[in-house]
Amino acid sequence: MMMGKNPDLSLLYRYQEARRRLMACEDELAVWKGERVLADLKSQVQTARQAAERIQTECKRLNMENRRLEGECQDYEAQLRDLETTLYSGKITVPKELEQLQRRIGEYQTAKAEREEKILNQLYLLETKEQELAQAQKQAAALQNKLTAAAEEVAQRVASLAERCVELQEEVEALDRDLPEDLKGFYQRSAKALKGVVVVPIKDKTCGFCHMIIPPAVLEKVKKGGSGVMLCENCGRGLFEQK
Ligand SMILES: [Zn+2]
Repeated sequence: MMMGKNPDLSLLYRYQEARRRLMACEDELAVWKGERVLADLKSQVQTARQAAERIQTECKRLNMENRRLEGECQDYEAQLRDLETTLYSGKITVPKELEQLQRRIGEYQTAKAEREEKILNQLYLLETKEQELAQAQKQAAALQNKLTAAAEEVAQRVASLAERCVELQEEVEALDRDLPEDLKGFYQRSAKALKGVVVVPIKDKTCGFCHMIIPPAVLEKVKKGGSGVMLCENCGRGLFEQK
């Protein structure tokens, strides 16, 4: 590849590397900006909140159920009072009617006792559920705090990466101004096909990119310079000696 005498490939290399750092920084910034970084924690918070809400709903249901049962107990009590008043009034004398009255009193007392027992059992259950609720709410709050802290960290990370991108952009622009037109053209023609790595320094007599051993004749030409850009026979990247 012919171009001006002694093309400064190290300058092109600096330009190329600055561009690569800039692109890597932009990619990283995009990842940190993405919602996915916090998505897992957000869904954990939501799950914990939903669990707490479910327990709360269960507590409300138990409270309502108990109020209903208490109402029924009061009704039975009122009816039992009436029945007992009738029983002791002495107005009923027919044995069959008396027997019937006593049976009803017995039935109501059983019904009332059943409800009282249920209320008691549900009060115990409610106590357990309320402890569970406190625990679940505590857990949801702890996860929310964790999410808030993580979101803050992400925001800081995004800010510092954005700042770094601006610095790298400025570096690239400065190098771009210094870069001779022929090298710029060389870079622009090859960058896409070579995935942004157009020139590489020689390392221990091998290509700095693909590690292929460079023939002595090519090494000699690179050392002497002046004959344009020598390319790696294997990967096609421009070779230069890093001073
Ligand atoms: Zn190579």
